[in-house]
Amino acid sequence: MIDSHAHLADPAFDEDRDAVVRRAQASGLRGIVCIGESLAAAGRARDIAQRAPGLVWWTAGVHPHDAAAFDAARDLSAIRAHIAEGAVAVGECGLDYHYDHSPRDRQRHAFAEQLSLARELVRPVVVHTREAEDDTTAMVEDAGRAEIRGVMHCFTGSPALARAALDAGWFVSFSGLITFKRWTDDELLRLVPDDRLLVETDAPYLAPVPHRGKRNEPAYLPLTIARLASARGSTAEHIAEVTSANARVLFGLPT
Ligand SMILES: [Zn+2]
Ligand SMILES: [Zn+2]
Repeated sequence: MIDSHAHLADPAFDEDRDAVVRRAQASGLRGIVCIGESLAAAGRARDIAQRAPGLVWWTAGVHPHDAAAFDAARDLSAIRAHIAEGAVAVGECGLDYHYDHSPRDRQRHAFAEQLSLARELVRPVVVHTREAEDDTTAMVEDAGRAEIRGVMHCFTGSPALARAALDAGWFVSFSGLITFKRWTDDELLRLVPDDRLLVETDAPYLAPVPHRGKRNEPAYLPLTIARLASARGSTAEHIAEVTSANARVLFGLPT
């Protein structure tokens, strides 16, 4: 299994990060993509990845929540430096009109700049989107035409947005949210074909049932895989196999 999106650099793991990584391995994980959702987090993510070579990889980007402070000249060159050092993707970046922590035009600007950088560097993008369907659809469609590839992480959007992402050649990732009682959209879990499906914990957030409300960690990924398998009439082994293979393809991880 590969956890395609975990915030291992989050201070929530400062006390026991090595034990968290060991528990992930013990529960069968063979890879964790550690998300740098800010340049500060990306620096910590790089250190974590470099201490666990072949198991933990990292990304670098600017989250939509922080888009107001995005400075293209400064931040794109920092992301570029991370990619040169071995970061596997640009992000997470995207649009979040639910919280609106940054003005929407600033969010679109930061997202568009990071998409262009991904194109230039021929790296995938990790995209966060919430209640921004029209703008996300338009930007992902443009990105697809520009041969940019990426993943819609922790997907909770509409079937139309999922289809737009798939048509653009993108992947769709599901998190522990799909184990919550209020998740009823199993059609969405079946809409994504095997070769575009990813799974993630989004740790330390969104711990799957029965850990809901507690700190999440990559070792809980099998709970989300099991839920996905039952919704799709498949087996956990199959879902683990295809999602690992897909993560290796998208992020260019060694097999
Ligand atoms: Zn996110
Ligand atoms: Zn995230």
